Amino acid sequence: MSMDGWSIGDIRVTRILEMCDPLRTPSEWFPDCTDEALEPHFHWLIPRSISPWTGRIVLPIQSFLVRTRHHTILVDGCIGNGKTVADFAHWHRRSDGTFLERLANAGVTPEQIDYVLCTHLHVDHCGWNTRLVDGRWVPTFPNARYIMARRELEAAEAAAGDATRTYEENVLPIVEAGRAVLVDMDHELDGEVWLEPTPGHTLGHVAIALKSQGVGAVFSGDLMHWPMQCIYPDWNFRWDTDPEQARRTRWAFLEACSENGRIVMTSHFPLPSIGTIARRHSSFWFDDYQPR
Ligand SMILES: [Zn+2]
Repeated sequence: MSMDGWSIGDIRVTRILEMCDPLRTPSEWFPDCTDEALEPHFHWLIPRSISPWTGRIVLPIQSFLVRTRHHTILVDGCIGNGKTVADFAHWHRRSDGTFLERLANAGVTPEQIDYVLCTHLHVDHCGWNTRLVDGRWVPTFPNARYIMARRELEAAEAAAGDATRTYEENVLPIVEAGRAVLVDMDHELDGEVWLEPTPGHTLGHVAIALKSQGVGAVFSGDLMHWPMQCIYPDWNFRWDTDPEQARRTRWAFLEACSENGRIVMTSHFPLPSIGTIARRHSSFWFDDYQPR
């Protein structure tokens, strides 16, 4: 049993963790979150999800390597090296071998990745799309087709401020290298891997679904950031682009997963970040999954 690799039918999923540390307090990220709502949950939130020393949410930044019979796929791309990032000092212009080392430990070279799928194009999900070589941003995975929801690319293009740098460093070089494949938000790669529209956090946000041997699973990206949002699906993340849409998407997603029993692989829930959704009272509960 391993917390870093598991099977979905014949598909093998491996976690590629870039970092995991306490970043912001609950109320900084979830404006609807109150001390009264949190208190009854401290016993399971501390220390895995809330740092007892800083009171901040411990946030994994991770990608997932997906190996099917036909494809070697990277889902999301963490923060990357050399990137311009305003949010946190330790995300800015990193030079850290951890990510590529962990990919190598999983037995995969960058050349072997044939698809890169991004749930959305935020700074912590598309960083390793590119790397800096001789002062130029080039695709990290030179043989990969980078599947991007057309709607998400348009939104990233239109984004102002600091997000412009993310677009210029992580996205535009892929388009210019001819490696981007623009698709609808329900694009199907094949019978085992497809996108599902889950807009709200960003306008073109997608979940990425897997199915093999009758087992279903889904990468939820940032349609939710924290297991408390299963209990309180109306709590938005501060940076959800369309708050009303984000709530509708979260309720619908949780409802569906509680019924179909799919394994939910989140980006930012406390490690191991994967589980199933159960109905509980008038909302939901995230059950940590025991990977096989
Ligand atoms: Zn994120």
